[in-house]
Amino acid sequence: MLQAPHLIEQHADELDDVPYIWPVDPRDGDRSLVGLPPHHIVIREGLVDDSSIEHSVRIGHSAQWQALASPDPTDQPSAPSIGEGRVGGLADGLCSACGWRLHRVLELGTFPGVDDGTVPAQIVACPNMPCMWTGQFFSHADDAPVSMPRVNYFPDAGMPVPDPVPDLPATFHPTRPRWHVQDWGLGGNLNRVGGVGSWVQDMIYPTCPTCAQTMPIAAQFGAFTPFEGSYGWERWTEGIIYAFWCRDCRISAVTSQQT
Ligand SMILES: [Zn+2]
Ligand SMILES: [Zn+2]
Repeated sequence: MLQAPHLIEQHADELDDVPYIWPVDPRDGDRSLVGLPPHHIVIREGLVDDSSIEHSVRIGHSAQWQALASPDPTDQPSAPSIGEGRVGGLADGLCSACGWRLHRVLELGTFPGVDDGTVPAQIVACPNMPCMWTGQFFSHADDAPVSMPRVNYFPDAGMPVPDPVPDLPATFHPTRPRWHVQDWGLGGNLNRVGGVGSWVQDMIYPTCPTCAQTMPIAAQFGAFTPFEGSYGWERWTEGIIYAFWCRDCRISAVTSQQT
């Protein structure tokens, strides 16, 4: 029920008193699966476009889009913003596996965890299908993340290069307790920094290629975030994009899951 607050609307205020906090303690000496508490990424401009909703209904995502088109409290969280960044746009550099130009998923800007290395300053990815399905690693030793060498598990299907997701300002807000865990299938704002993942399939955390420790989630992005006048991340996946971070090695990973 914590994952479906609209079903228990009359008890919403009481739920904020529930001390439902995902454990952040190390797991028998191994690194915690939670790198930082969850925050919502709120995009106030350039969202929701009726024509793209219609198009998506035609290609069979009606349930997701109807849910996203309705107002949801997770899109306007009550906690004040703790920082500002940007989503979308292109990034510097090329994918090491397929050669495509990298896209910027999130610039964390003034998010407080950037300065101490709790989160990366920027999350980038290659939207090509075999790269999204294999999983990607990036070194953040320098300013711009660099795609680390890898071999894709899946062949290149010749997918067209998607337009970049619109470059838009975003703000970061601590998530209220009842949304510390959010289900993928119930709509709402699934764009988050920190916390635990909204898993479409099994809970899968990558292992850092340098130190071999588990990489906690840095952020996640809902594929059906309805960007106005443009396709968004639904050209990358039909589920969720997950970004992970090893703060010791300054390496990020990007994976995706869908049905
Ligand atoms: Zn690629
Ligand atoms: Zn590492």
